[in-house]
Amino acid sequence: MWRQVRIAILLLLLGVAAYSNWYDRLSTTDWDETLYVGVFPVAEADTPAARDYVSRLSEDRIADIEQFLNEEARNFGIDIARPVSVELYPPVDERPPERAADAGILQNMWWSLKVRMYARRAVRSSGRPTPQIRIFVIYHDPTFTKAVPHSVGMQKGLVGVVHAFADAGMTRTNNVVIAHEILHTLGASDKYDPQTLAPMFPIGYAEPERNPLYPQSFAEIMAGRYAVDARTFEIPESLDRAVVGETTALELRWLRL
Ligand SMILES: [Zn+2]
Repeated sequence: MWRQVRIAILLLLLGVAAYSNWYDRLSTTDWDETLYVGVFPVAEADTPAARDYVSRLSEDRIADIEQFLNEEARNFGIDIARPVSVELYPPVDERPPERAADAGILQNMWWSLKVRMYARRAVRSSGRPTPQIRIFVIYHDPTFTKAVPHSVGMQKGLVGVVHAFADAGMTRTNNVVIAHEILHTLGASDKYDPQTLAPMFPIGYAEPERNPLYPQSFAEIMAGRYAVDARTFEIPESLDRAVVGETTALELRWLRL
C-alpha cells in the first residue's frame, strides 16, 4: 500500500515537472509579448576590484544585450515592439552554489535544483518582480582569476550562471557570454566542437556561404567564436560582431518550419 502511494506521489511530481518544463518552453518562445530577463550581478570574492566593479554596474553597461537580441529577433520577423527586456537587478551578496568540474548526472541535477532555490531567494531579497529568466553573473577579479569556470544556461528552471571578469575592458565580451547563456535558457544549443572549440560548419558560422570562407568576421552567438582560418578561432570582442544563425533561430522559434 505505502509503496503504491510513494510511487503515485513520485509520478505526480514527475508529471508536474514535465508539465512546467513544457509550459516554460512554450511561454518563453511564443514571442507574442515581451520576455523579461533579469541580470543579477554577484562579486566572486571580497576583493576591492570585484566589489567595485559590481557596485558600479549600471543598466547602460548591459544595454547592448537587449539591443542585440531585439535586433536579431526583428531580422527573423518577430514584429512586436520589444521582444526581450533585459534589466539589471541589484547585486546579490550570496554566491550561487558551486558546481564541481567533474560532476556526474546526479550531482548536476542536485546542483541545478540548488541553483533554482538560490534564484528564488535572490529574487525575493531584491524586492522586485520575478523576471521569467534569471541570469546570475559572477564577476571574477582578473588579477586572481585567469580562467573562469564554464558558464551555464538551463532551459529547465530558466536560470543561468555566468562567469565573467570584473574589468571595465571586458564588459562587452562578458555581454557576449551573457547573451549566449540567455539563449540557452530559451532552448538554443551550442554550435561548437567542445574538444577543439571550433565553430560547427555550417550551423556555427555567421556567413557559411561566404567565398572565400575565411576569414569570417562575425560569430554565430551559439558557436561563441568565429573562424579566422580553418584552425584559428576568435571570441568576438562585442555583440556587434555576433549574429543569430538560422538553426539557432529555429530552436528559439523565431523561424518556424
Ligand atoms: Zn553554451
